[in-house]
Amino acid sequence: MLKVECPPLPTNLRAYLDRQQARANPWKSLAGSKPAREVKHALVEAFHHKCGYCERIEAQTVDHFVPQTDLQARWDWENFVLACDVCQSKKLGRQPQDVQGRQMVNPRHDEPLHFLYFDFETGAVTPMPTSEETLARGRITTQLLGFDQRAALQDERRRRFLEVIGCILRIVQPQSPQDAAIAWDQLVDHLKAEAPYLGMIRQFVLKPNRYTPLLETLREARPDFDALIAYWCLPLD
Ligand SMILES: [Zn+2]
Repeated sequence: MLKVECPPLPTNLRAYLDRQQARANPWKSLAGSKPAREVKHALVEAFHHKCGYCERIEAQTVDHFVPQTDLQARWDWENFVLACDVCQSKKLGRQPQDVQGRQMVNPRHDEPLHFLYFDFETGAVTPMPTSEETLARGRITTQLLGFDQRAALQDERRRRFLEVIGCILRIVQPQSPQDAAIAWDQLVDHLKAEAPYLGMIRQFVLKPNRYTPLLETLREARPDFDALIAYWCLPLD
């Protein structure tokens, strides 16, 4: 999960949402209308076509973070998250909080790395045990989205991380200048904003770990590395 800063909606679309809210219109019957499709397009662009929860590519669904049964949340741009079909089906109709009212992590408003820990070895996402609050909010997030039961997702995330590390090793210990250049191009591809699973890469870059010395060596070889990721790898909140 990455925190996603969505730009404000154009005035006409914001007015459209306000009108639907005032009329208490149902979401589903209007989701295919032109303005609703433009709202969805803005969300898709802001999330770079990726699920806001699990970061799989080609996400297609407007998820209501707070379920649309809450009228105030139904037409609220701030409540929309782009989601894949799996995450959306797990969330659908459920309140995004535990019985004590502690909320799951919202990729539009929370710093995911305060609440979630990415395991580089397994690709698993687990609650961050920094405090009782981070543990509880991380736990409701991983439980509600079923992160602990989605083995294929974990494996994809782990493999993506290993590919990134593999590219970095070929850049800092190149077999040939040509291979280093090819590895850099592959790394650029892995780290574009549309690429999946950047939340784990962000943890790798921002939090000290066993690969930090490798990252420092990469920065010496490629001083342009930080500029490459600057537009999505924002500093920790
Ligand atoms: Zn998802």
